[in-house]
Amino acid sequence: MTTQRHNWTKEEILAIYNKPLMELLYEAATVHREHHDPNTVQVSTLLSIKTGGCPEDCGYCPQAARYHTDIEGNDLMTVSHVKAQALRAKASGSSRVCMGAAWRNVKDGPEFDQVLEMVRTINKLDMEVCCTLGMLTENQANRLAEAGLYAYNHNLDTSEDYYKDVISTRAFEDRLETIDNVRKSNVTVCSGGIIGMGEELADRAGMLVALASLNPQPESVPINALVAVEGTPMEAMEPISIWEMIRMVATTRIVMPETQVRLSAGRTEMSREGQAMCFFAGANSIFAGDKLLTTPNPDVNEDMEMFKLLGLNPQKPFTKVSQPKTVEAEDSELQPMDEKPKWTRPGHKIARNENAKVASKLVSKE
Ligand code: SF4
Repeated sequence: MTTQRHNWTKEEILAIYNKPLMELLYEAATVHREHHDPNTVQVSTLLSIKTGGCPEDCGYCPQAARYHTDIEGNDLMTVSHVKAQALRAKASGSSRVCMGAAWRNVKDGPEFDQVLEMVRTINKLDMEVCCTLGMLTENQANRLAEAGLYAYNHNLDTSEDYYKDVISTRAFEDRLETIDNVRKSNVTVCSGGIIGMGEELADRAGMLVALASLNPQPESVPINALVAVEGTPMEAMEPISIWEMIRMVATTRIVMPETQVRLSAGRTEMSREGQAMCFFAGANSIFAGDKLLTTPNPDVNEDMEMFKLLGLNPQKPFTKVSQPKTVEAEDSELQPMDEKPKWTRPGHKIARNENAKVASKLVSKE
């Protein structure tokens, strides 16, 4: 049985997205149970380590320097401040800390050295550490890997066709290049997008085609609903309905069965019932904390109450996100997957070796 398919077409994905809802939910929930524990959801904390003043022009982002929003910018946080925040996040149930800096790209120098020290510090706390710092060279990805980075987030945001309507200061290919640089290092890939930016359904499908075509597929795919912020070009966008979010989550789950699907920005607008349907449809991660970088997010206590109500358990750090399927080696149709270890804790030699054995049995079908 294969687990990853990389040749999805936009038409196939649209057909899934538009299925009668009950069929879509049933299919997505079935795929979800084949690959994940349906009662476990990862809680991650997103920390803005450098806010505002970004030279890019992402139309949805209040941190772009050119837009007039009421975001309060700040310089790069100190390592001790980050450590204190990470400890707080851990105490409230988070197993992953994602650090975001409003940079176009990473520049070698004292600030990057400081980020590397933050990565080392959080890694020592036995938490997964993720960064989202903009574009990255292969050498910088390797340096982050050596420091113990577990994941690097670099969202595709939308389809290649719609990309230029959202951002003009960089191209879709630049995103793919950074993702490729991350993939070459021993860091897992987190890449997803935003819905509700005025895109067509075909763009949502196009984004999923691009993500699913990556081989291997990203270990983590955040699905965000646009939070329209006053002062940004997208301030007047109508919020998407919960049904669109559920359909997007379910479709993502079906086309990327092994991936951790992250319910990200926009959760404050969702009812508990809506979020429960997203979990049923295959979402298995949320971001905790009262802010997602700069936009509002549900309070961590509210989330823990929701977990209790739904019988969900927070995922432990460094948990392999999928149940890998093993196959007989002689199955000629199947090609061995790249044996690079996946879902392991960077810098953890034993786990890495153990996982290499598992990875050697993983297969992927083109
Ligand atoms: S999304 Fe990131 S790159 Fe784009 S403007 Fe905001 S901080 Fe800058």
